[in-house]
Amino acid sequence: MQTMEDKHYNYAAQFQCIADRCEDSCCNGWDICVDEATHEKYREHAPKLLDYVEIKTDGPAMRQVEGTKTCGQLREGLCRIHSDYGESYLPDTCSMYPKRAVRIGESLLVGATSSCPEIARLILSVDSPFTLVEKSLLRRPSVIPGWITGSEMENYAMSIMARFMEETQRSDISAEQALVQVIHVCTMLDREHKDNWAQQIGRFFLQAENIENRRLKSAGNTNKALLPSGQIMQTMYLLGNFKSVRSLQFLASLQKAFVKDDEREDSPYILRPGLLEAFDSNIEAQDVIDETLKRYLGAEIIRRVFPFGNERGNKKQTVYEKVVPLAVYFCFLKIALLAHIDKEGNPPELEKRATILQILSKALNHLPCDVAGFLKGKGLSDSNLLQVMIYKTA
Ligand code: SF4
Repeated sequence: MQTMEDKHYNYAAQFQCIADRCEDSCCNGWDICVDEATHEKYREHAPKLLDYVEIKTDGPAMRQVEGTKTCGQLREGLCRIHSDYGESYLPDTCSMYPKRAVRIGESLLVGATSSCPEIARLILSVDSPFTLVEKSLLRRPSVIPGWITGSEMENYAMSIMARFMEETQRSDISAEQALVQVIHVCTMLDREHKDNWAQQIGRFFLQAENIENRRLKSAGNTNKALLPSGQIMQTMYLLGNFKSVRSLQFLASLQKAFVKDDEREDSPYILRPGLLEAFDSNIEAQDVIDETLKRYLGAEIIRRVFPFGNERGNKKQTVYEKVVPLAVYFCFLKIALLAHIDKEGNPPELEKRATILQILSKALNHLPCDVAGFLKGKGLSDSNLLQVMIYKTA
């Protein structure tokens, strides 16, 4: 049998769980499913552990503390199964989290989700977070999603993903321009046969850049807020799983930063008077927000296995449909970051930026609903509207 080579993205390779020092443990806030292999292991070797599992409509899951979304085995920030039985008795979900492995050809690529506070910090702070390094997973999950199979497909897929990564990390264009160019390229890929993607992607990015440069030249200054942040904020509230005290405090902090432009019911929200102007004249702050947004894009390309994977893993989507949630979440993050600048326009500190990224990710990254369909229903999937939002949401 051929062995797969494990590669970690640098930010995932540096991860170490901070356990009881964690400010938002992964055992809080969602169902923790128990994979079939682990369930079988409990049946055979540790039947007492079956008492901690309940059978839900979509399969076995860890029993939670009644009336809460907290795993029943969490004690003072530490896992009782881990301490009493050892790591090998954890379900795949717990053993892997926050890492996520996907099979690309003969390689196993390991990234991680920013819904974990420590990963959010690493994404925003380590040098070269998205470089691939050789590192083996200590334990492989029993099921590994494989979006691209066959060794001959590995170079093809890796070159396309690497191009998306490179274009979102460019220092000579803004995060907004990089994302809008990605959106143009996604529509071009949808019109091209998949076999030609690797060959055409360089030309598509050049075309996208030309389109965007021409448009920006004729549009002039794009910083001024014109668009209904209210619509975006409302969508974030409706879509997200904001239930914990922490995330509710976060929403309250956003509400404080925005005011309605006028008394009308449908009036757009704008940043409190003075904040946007202060930000517009603070070049250093703009650089920090820009870097944060670019790192977010990089981490999401990895998490989404973009443009090959999809979040739910079952429904076929066009590449454009896959980029819509990424673009809208980008606007959510931009709004949240801008809501936390001070009156001199200074950006939030690294720790605060990581907290913002993590809370948003925990509320939005693992939703059980069809996110693309939801956003379409809210009118947020139109390409022109998306482009305007990305530049003008503030
Ligand atoms: S959220 Fe991350 S750092 Fe916190 S307990 Fe879970 S894996 Fe560890």
